[in-house]
Amino acid sequence: MTDSPAAAQPVVEMEHVDKFFGDLHVLNDINLTVRAGEVVVVIGPSGSGKSTLCRTINRLEGINSGTIKVAGEVLPEEGRELARLRSRVGMVFQSFNLFAHKTVLENVTLGPVKVKKSGTEDAKKRGMELLERVGVANQAAKYPAQLSGGQQQRVAIARALAMDPMVMLFDEPTSALDPEMVNEVLDVMVGLAQRGMTMIVVTHEMGFARKAADRVVFMSDGQIVEEADPESFFTRPQSTRARDFLSKIL
Ligand code: ADP
Ligand code: MG
Repeated sequence: MTDSPAAAQPVVEMEHVDKFFGDLHVLNDINLTVRAGEVVVVIGPSGSGKSTLCRTINRLEGINSGTIKVAGEVLPEEGRELARLRSRVGMVFQSFNLFAHKTVLENVTLGPVKVKKSGTEDAKKRGMELLERVGVANQAAKYPAQLSGGQQQRVAIARALAMDPMVMLFDEPTSALDPEMVNEVLDVMVGLAQRGMTMIVVTHEMGFARKAADRVVFMSDGQIVEEADPESFFTRPQSTRARDFLSKIL
C-alpha cells in the first residue's frame, strides 16, 4: 500500500514472458511491473498460471522467452549468484513447507545463518523479533507439527521475512487453512502491506484484496486479461472472463 506507486522503483519487472509446459502455453506474453511498496493481488481460475507466474519470479521455474528482473537484475539460471539474488524474493506457499525436524526458531534462523552468513546470536534475536511480529514468539521452541495451521503459516511468513526480501510472494497462503485460522494469517499480511512491503499475493480472499491491494491482476489461460484497482475490478469487471469468474466466487 503506497501513496504514489507510479513514482517508486520497480522491484519486479516481467516483460513479454512466455512459458510452455509441452504444448501448454502456461504464461502467454506476461507483462507485469510491481513497484516498491505496491501490493498486487493475482486472481483467476484454477489452472490459469498464477502459481507458475510466482515460481518464475525466483526461477523455481525457467521461462521460454521474455525477461524477468528483480530489483533491476535478471536472475541467472543457476549458481551462487542465483542463491544470493533469490534471497531477495520471499515466498510463502499454500502448504507451509516448514522444516519438520527444526524448531520454530530454527526454521526462521536457518536461512539467514546459511545464506546471508548472519551470526547465530544476531539471527536468533532477529528471529524472535519476527516471531513476535507474527504473534508466535511463545511457540519458538516447539516443532511445526505442534502448531496449528495458522500458526505454521505465520512462522512461514516470519521465515521468509528473515531473509530481508525486497518482495514477498504469497501463493494462496490461506487456502489450506481451517476457516477460523484464515484471518490470523490475513491480518499479518495486511500488517506487512501497511509497513510498506512490496507484495504479490495470489488469493481469492476478496476482503484482503479490498483492504490491502493497490491493484488486482486477473489471469485466465496464461494471460493477464485485466488489471485494475480492487474497487473498479470487483464492481465493474470489464472482460467476460472476469465477470464469469467473479460470478462464481462472490
Ligand atoms: P494456477 O496456480 O492458476 O492454478 P498453475 O500455474 O498451477 O495454475 O498451472 C497452470 C497450468 O500449468 C495448469 O494447466 C497446470 O496443470 C499446468 N502445470 C503446472 N505445473 C506443471 C508442470 N510442472 N508440468 C506440466 N504442467 C504443469
Ligand atoms: Mg496455484
